[in-house]
Amino acid sequence: MNEQLKYLIELQEVDSSILSIAEKIESLPGKLEKFKAPFKEANILLQKAKTQFEALGKSRKDRESAAEEFQEKINKLKTKSKEIKTNKEYEAYLKEIEGFEKEKYKIEDEILSIMENLEAFTKDIQKEELKVKKTEEEFREQEKAFEEEKTRLHAEMETYKTKRKDFVAKIEVELYEQYMNLLKRSGGLAVVPAKKEVCLGCNTNIPPQQFNDIKKNDNIFNCYYCKRILYFKEQ
Ligand SMILES: [Zn+2]
Repeated sequence: MNEQLKYLIELQEVDSSILSIAEKIESLPGKLEKFKAPFKEANILLQKAKTQFEALGKSRKDRESAAEEFQEKINKLKTKSKEIKTNKEYEAYLKEIEGFEKEKYKIEDEILSIMENLEAFTKDIQKEELKVKKTEEEFREQEKAFEEEKTRLHAEMETYKTKRKDFVAKIEVELYEQYMNLLKRSGGLAVVPAKKEVCLGCNTNIPPQQFNDIKKNDNIFNCYYCKRILYFKEQ
């Protein structure tokens, strides 16, 4: 086989590997983001439960102040009992106290129900906190695995880049320039096999006479259509 052709084939293999590694490295953050989703979701649910818990706590305080206000009204009324002179006044006085007490009991019932809800939310928050912790651990584990994979891919890439330099040093300057131009405009594929009188780069037919010449692999031929460098691969 033509030595330059042999190096070009090998250079193409190296460049294809470099491209594939670069694609893998690029896809890593997107893949990792998928593992982050459950962690993010658990965090949102936790914040939601916390917000609801705080709102309930505030409404409990408001209710407690309201209950105190009624208690103060009742106390104030009780100190005025000596000022009552008639039965009628006394009845009205009792009715007023009773009314305030009714309001106070109603509020105290509300406080009890709020406290039950607070207890339920405390359990929810504990549950969500556990979920956040678990999903975060899982995510961190994946993150670590992805970091290791990235380091491994970068090392692999460096190995290929060293190999590449060796081949480039062996290839004639003009051929290398042609190769690089083809690589850039042909989607990273500059050297392709010819099979059954067809260029496997663009699937165009190769004239039989040229295919016979390509089969010998002792010269560099370009596809007349896509201009890629062709070679023949033994089955
Ligand atoms: Zn072609």
